[in-house]
Amino acid sequence: MSDVASTFRDQYGRDPEGLWAAPGRVNLIGEHTDYNDGFVLPFALPMRVVAAAARADAGWQVRSDLEDEQASFESAGEPGTISGWAAYVAGVVWALRDAGYEVPPADLAITSDVPLGAGVSSSAALESAVLTALIDLGELEIPVAERPALAQRAENVYVGAPTGIMDQSASIRCEAGQALFLDCRSQEVEQIPFDVAAEGLAVLVVNSNAPHKHVDGEYGARRKSCEEAARLLGVPALRDVAADGLDVALERLDDDVTRRRVRHVVTENQRVLDTVELLRSGRIREIGPLMTASHASMRDDFEITVPEVDVAVEAALTAGAYGARMTGGGFGGCVLALIDADRADATAAAVADAYAKHGFTAPTPFVAVPSQGATRL
Ligand code: ADP
Ligand code: MG
Repeated sequence: MSDVASTFRDQYGRDPEGLWAAPGRVNLIGEHTDYNDGFVLPFALPMRVVAAAARADAGWQVRSDLEDEQASFESAGEPGTISGWAAYVAGVVWALRDAGYEVPPADLAITSDVPLGAGVSSSAALESAVLTALIDLGELEIPVAERPALAQRAENVYVGAPTGIMDQSASIRCEAGQALFLDCRSQEVEQIPFDVAAEGLAVLVVNSNAPHKHVDGEYGARRKSCEEAARLLGVPALRDVAADGLDVALERLDDDVTRRRVRHVVTENQRVLDTVELLRSGRIREIGPLMTASHASMRDDFEITVPEVDVAVEAALTAGAYGARMTGGGFGGCVLALIDADRADATAAAVADAYAKHGFTAPTPFVAVPSQGATRL
C-alpha cells in the first residue's frame, strides 16, 4: 500500500489530521439472507481502504490511488448529482446530511488493497472509511450501531445499488479474531470467536476471477422471488418461515422455482444459526459440512453459482478442505475453504490445476485472517 499520508501532502500541501481504515469482508455463511431479514456471519479481511483526511474551508475533494481523476464537489446535492467512483464518497456526505448531521468540508486521499468487484465489498470499505473519517473530523456523535445504515443509504439511494445491510455492518463492526453474527432484522450483532489460527486452521479465499455477468438483473430477480414468496406465505419476510415449518410452507407454493428459492433462504438461515452454535463451543472444524451444504443450496436451489466457483469448491474439497463454499452475491466472486493451515499452498495449487484443466482464467488465492473493522489508525 502506498504511503497515503505523503500522497495527501503532495495533493493538498498540508498534513492530514488523521488516517482512517475500513476493511473488505467475506461472509462465512448466510448468503442472500440479509434482504430476507435473516442472519449472516461475515468477518473482516486484512485488506482495507485507508483514507487520509483533514478538514477544509468548503466542499469536498477526494483522490484515490486507483483512479486517475480527482473528484471535487461543492455539495453532494441530491442522489444523481455525482456519478462514478466519487458517488460512493458524495453518497456518504449526502447520507450524513440527510440524517441531519453537519458534515465537515474535507480533503481526502484514499488508498486501498481491497480488490474491486471481486465480491469482498470494496464499495462498503470505501464508504465506511470515508464515513468514519468524516464522523471523527466533524466530531459527530453517531453510535457505532447506527453507522452501517448510513453507509448503506449512501450505496442504495445515492449510488443506486440495492444491497442489504451486511457489507457495511461487517466493514464497520467486525473485530479481529471474530466473526460478526448479525441479525439483519434487528441489526443486533454478536461477536463470535473465530480464531482459526489458534486451532491450526486457515480460511483460504480463492478469487474465481470469473467475469461477472448479469449480476444486477439476477440479484433483483432473486430478491423479487423472495419478496413474492413471503407475500404468498403471509409473512413479513422469509426469515419468519422456521426451518421446522419449511415443508408446510413449501406445500403452499405451486411454483417449483419459488419453492427452491424459499428452501435456500430458510435452510441457509438455519445453517447460520448452527454455525454460530458450533463456533460458540469452539468446534470450528465441524462447520465444514455446513459450508459445503450452503454451497450446494446456492448451486441447486438458489442457482447463483457459475462453473468457476463450483470447480473451485470441488477442487478444495478433494484436496482435503473441511468445507468450501462460494461467498458473496454470486455469479462469480470468491470461494472460501476451511483447511488445515499447512494445506494452504496445496489447496491453492489444486484449485489452480483444476482451473487450468477447465481452461478458466487463473484464480487468485489468499489466506484470510479475521481482522479489525473500521478504525482510526
Ligand atoms: P465490490 O464492492 O464487490 O468490490 P462494487 O461494484 O460494489 O464491487 O464496488 C466497486 C466500485 O467501488 C468500484 O467500481 C469503484 O467505483 C468503487 N471503489 C471501491 N474502492 C475504491 C477505491 N479504493 N477507489 C476508488 N473507487 C473505489
Ligand atoms: Mg459492493
